[in-house]
Amino acid sequence: MPMLSLNSSVSSAPGVGNQNVKKLHSLGIQTVEDLLYYFPFRYEDFSEQKKIIDIRPGETVTIRGKVMEIKNPPVRGRRRITEVYIEDETGSVKAVWFNFMMPLKFLSKGKYVQFSGKVSLFRGKEVYFQHPNFELISKSVYQKSDQTDQKLNSFTGSTSGLVPVYPENRKVNSYFLRRVIQVTLKKVNPQELIPKKFLQEQKLPEIQEALNNIHFPENSQKAELAKKRFAFEKMFLIQIQALKIKQKWEKNSAFLIDFDQKVTQHFVSSLPFNLTDAQKKTSWQIIQDLEKDVPMNRLLEGDVGSGKTIVAVMAILAVLNKGFQVAILAPTEVLALQHYSGINNFLKKYQFKIGLLTGSQSKIGEEKISKAKFSTKIKSGKVSLVIGTHAIIQEKIHFKNLALVIIDEQHRFGVKQRAFLQQNAMKIKDGSEKTLPHLLTMTATPIPRTLSLALFGNLDLSIIDEYPKGKKEIITKVISPEKRVRVYGFIENQVKKGEQVFVVCPLVEESSKISQVKSATEEHESLQNQIFPNLKIGLLHGKMKPKEKEAIMSEFKNKKFDILVSTSVIEVGIDIPNATTIVIEGAERFGLAQLHQFRGRVGRRKEQSYCFLFTSENVAESTARLKTMEKTNNGFKIAEADLKLRGPGQFLGTLQSGVPDITMESLSDVKLIQSARVYAQSLLEYDPNLKNFPLLKNKSASLAEQIHFE
Ligand code: ADP
Ligand code: MG
Repeated sequence: MPMLSLNSSVSSAPGVGNQNVKKLHSLGIQTVEDLLYYFPFRYEDFSEQKKIIDIRPGETVTIRGKVMEIKNPPVRGRRRITEVYIEDETGSVKAVWFNFMMPLKFLSKGKYVQFSGKVSLFRGKEVYFQHPNFELISKSVYQKSDQTDQKLNSFTGSTSGLVPVYPENRKVNSYFLRRVIQVTLKKVNPQELIPKKFLQEQKLPEIQEALNNIHFPENSQKAELAKKRFAFEKMFLIQIQALKIKQKWEKNSAFLIDFDQKVTQHFVSSLPFNLTDAQKKTSWQIIQDLEKDVPMNRLLEGDVGSGKTIVAVMAILAVLNKGFQVAILAPTEVLALQHYSGINNFLKKYQFKIGLLTGSQSKIGEEKISKAKFSTKIKSGKVSLVIGTHAIIQEKIHFKNLALVIIDEQHRFGVKQRAFLQQNAMKIKDGSEKTLPHLLTMTATPIPRTLSLALFGNLDLSIIDEYPKGKKEIITKVISPEKRVRVYGFIENQVKKGEQVFVVCPLVEESSKISQVKSATEEHESLQNQIFPNLKIGLLHGKMKPKEKEAIMSEFKNKKFDILVSTSVIEVGIDIPNATTIVIEGAERFGLAQLHQFRGRVGRRKEQSYCFLFTSENVAESTARLKTMEKTNNGFKIAEADLKLRGPGQFLGTLQSGVPDITMESLSDVKLIQSARVYAQSLLEYDPNLKNFPLLKNKSASLAEQIHFE
């Protein structure tokens, strides 16, 4: 019989007709490979076999018997009931299914059958099976009734040993999948794509064995190993792809920026503070990158307030000092403005021309000028540093000699926007074709290092994992519903002292923007009307136009309000130093990493800051989770905790939806990520173009369409 190829359409799998092809398509299964890579998310353990007389309510068992009677009473309401009675030499028992017709199709009086499932009790006395798995067995298997004989040659693989349970939808159930996968597995001879040596070293099974064991494992150890192999396979492919993107990037050239120690030293010594060790280390990494004629592609990760800006400014200074241009992109106008004033301030003793370009304005120094004029000045090199939003790209600005692009809060740009940005960052260059600007992206989302390796494997990584000295810890308290009144009293006092307060509203169930807007609006009303009638309270939400938002923010900054009620839009790095208290409603609905981002809105001054996490119910387990926030202010520690508690999903942002489960699994395994990286590196060193590994080459390339690297 001809073997099936993994690439062929799933319609060529045995027993898959037109009808079934449609079903499989509904699960996104197009090819034989898709089918075999459709993995179970758990297994039911039916390894315990009993005689009918021995079964007890509540237990999960397998029994064998002969079909005595099948009942398919007329429809009662909307429920269609199927009942099958079987017996063995010790007794008889009934199985019941609702709206499930399969047994009628396969079972008939006199046939032998095996049931696996949970034993239930009807009206407190009659023992029966509700919705058991079933499969036909031969008379000889029935007669053997050997408890150790678990590998029946059955048609569904549904009732012996570990039975796979797949993600189902309305059209497709695990029954169907087991049957199709089982027969298909017998007809394929898949090629191994991972070098066998790598698998041997890690004691992981080869492809055929792994496929068999992930679907129909003999025991749970084998299932685990098979899963691990596929997680490794995925991560290995991801790393190969990431490293190839890196290789490709490094084929370009960049302006080489000689390091001028004196200039940097002079700048550093003129700062009103000492750099932290982490700031020194990361800025040195960047400066060394700039000294190469290969474009840098580096991610600077550092928590809110860890002082990324100054690290960026040192790179900017090095580049401007050599007569080249720099562009800084921020995700919002507010942030662009903040950088504009901050960076102008840092660089004021130098004579550099600095310009601002956003959707709504362009200026050089304090002088507003038209965008057309602005453009000309950049093209001629009269402006050397441009700070702005992605208007810089939209306006198709041409630079004279752009040598460095900095993207701040890069996680705030959507995946598509980022891809666009990066492609365009490459285009804003000086005309000589292959010269790209060095690229520095910055993020305030602390992502555990290994996870960064998995997600941004094509980037070099610099991490600021300490805070400037003297930065006060933000006092954080989890507040149960009955204690919130006390906090309101505290807030009133703070306001009397001239401090300002943020109130962040919870994500509503569907977490849609509209319902969030509603909850913020209601919260605003109730605070204003019932709780703080004498205070001035502002409202900010994502439905507002950028202009409105900005107006509200600047009013808040100018103390027009005491309290700002907001949806999660304030997560973006807004700087309101006078705000020293933040209240987060429904805190249990947020991940720790996100709470930490919110908390970063306060604590910007010497004054003590406070963060109150209001819970909507008194749930012990979410309170325990939230207590982590009380214990530490370190974003990386919180991220690690969150990774353990809630898995990697939340760090993936937009990636999340398209990422298959096995990838999720691989992302939780630190060692696996590291070894995949090492193996990918060693393979690419040995065979940079994967000439000897065509399958691997194809696979990693097609993965690139699923997973977007930064
Ligand atoms: P972020 O990493 O969130 O972008 P910023 O760069 O905005 O942080 O820095 C936060 C604040 O800390 C700024 O006011 C900055 O001037 C200050 N700062 C940065 N580095 C230090 C340091 N080493 N010592 C004291 N203050 C610092
Ligand atoms: Mg910042």
